[in-house]
Amino acid sequence: MEKTEVIELLSAEKIQQRVSEIGRQITADLAGTEQLLVVGVLKGAFMFTADLVRSIQIPCHIEFIRASSYGHSMQSSGNVALSGELDIENHDVLLVEDIIDTGLTIRRIAENFRKRNPASLRICTLLDKPSTRKYPVTIDYSGFSVPNRFIVGYGIDYAEQYRELPFIGTLP
Ligand code: 5GP
Repeated sequence: MEKTEVIELLSAEKIQQRVSEIGRQITADLAGTEQLLVVGVLKGAFMFTADLVRSIQIPCHIEFIRASSYGHSMQSSGNVALSGELDIENHDVLLVEDIIDTGLTIRRIAENFRKRNPASLRICTLLDKPSTRKYPVTIDYSGFSVPNRFIVGYGIDYAEQYRELPFIGTLP
């Protein structure tokens, strides 16, 4: 498949700075926590999760779950399939997402997690698209607010392309 040029929205440097800030904030807020269970949502949040845990100065266990709603389209299907079993009971959980758009995906995941009695549950997203929210969510940590454009890069794909880019951009 031919690659369209990506228009840069957030540089690699800007992302790294913000990720460090969020890591410091989480470290301060959760000071005293013996162990944090960081759960990244695949695949989009893999890069953000990897950078974020390097900035959190609390011992972490790291897990990933898979939630897919897009397939190869640019529009969410509305169905969220969760795969990956993990034990979160009595753990302090930090759920790490790439983008919160309508809010459906993170709501479904958070509802599923809350039923499994974590000691605490916090939501962290790299990007927030507040203008398209349909399902309200309380976000504990958010990297950047972005306009309603189709985003790629820094882990985020279009049909599995562009994940490797160190920056975030939009497709024209
Ligand atoms: P929501 O369920 O909040 O509507 O959508 C969340 C999920 O949709 C994100 O985890 C992400 O996988 C995907 N998503 C939302 N906006 C974009 C976008 O601009 N680009 C890409 N590639 N995925 C997006």
